[in-house]
Amino acid sequence: MILDDFSLKGKVAVVTGANTGLGRGMCVALAQAGAKVAGVARRSCAETAALIEKDGGIFNEIIADLSDTANAPLILDKVLEYYGRADILVNNAGMILREDAINVTEEDWNRVINLNLNMVFILSQTFARQFEKQGEGGKIVNICSMLSYQGGIRVPAYTASKSAVLGLTRALANEWAAKGINVNAIAPGYMATNNTTGLRDDETRAGQILERIPAGRWGTPQDMAGAAVFLCSKASDYVNGFTVAVDGGWLAR
Ligand code: NAP
Repeated sequence: MILDDFSLKGKVAVVTGANTGLGRGMCVALAQAGAKVAGVARRSCAETAALIEKDGGIFNEIIADLSDTANAPLILDKVLEYYGRADILVNNAGMILREDAINVTEEDWNRVINLNLNMVFILSQTFARQFEKQGEGGKIVNICSMLSYQGGIRVPAYTASKSAVLGLTRALANEWAAKGINVNAIAPGYMATNNTTGLRDDETRAGQILERIPAGRWGTPQDMAGAAVFLCSKASDYVNGFTVAVDGGWLAR
């Protein structure tokens, strides 16, 4: 039956940036769909664990700094230690730095690109090798942005990284589709999380943004749940290299 295709029972999902915001929301959604979840973060994921465990779900945290690609194999090792396999990788962790392009330092540029792009590739490669070894395919979901499509203002490294992740999603999908590995992405619109605190604190910008969202509200972590479960499940087995916008209609304008 069709709803069975959305079930993640028996699957092991890894979500980066799991202690807060959209990552926490997707951890909860994947666990509710039946997956055992490993959440990667620099800080404790206690609140994520509590939300999942109160409904009988299974969650373990992996404390790691994702700005260092040398940590990718250690993360996989930890997932295998917890659950013995891996089926789903959600590359969610990301950062944004706001500064006039003319003043951005090379160090800040590299910080954003390392986390938002380089680690996404290295983790995807690390997990795809594991999926290949297991021989049952796998699912990779990258988190893009409206700035995968638009230029943005005062966030050049972020725009460059998120535009690249959209292209990388297509590139990896092309190579790995035949191995049963689906690589897709979600482009969230303007969501109320730590990532947008600065924007939401700026009354003028916040007002301009809200006025432009057809749905008439900022998104929430819960809004990611449906697209995340779909792209991590058998229901999306013939969806490859596509980026789904969860944006209240922002891109439709
Ligand atoms: P958030 O609340 O700031 O979450 C970012 C997550 O990434 C946190 O868990 C953070 O953990 C983690 N992270 C950052 N640097 C890390 C590092 N070096 N190592 C390990 N983890 C690290 O923001 P969010 O809105 O949920 O963002 C999640 C993703 O959605 C990001 O890729 C973001 O670019 C994207 N996105 C967000 C929006 C939006 O409107 N909110 C829109 C489009 C795209 P720490 O607590 O350790 O920093």
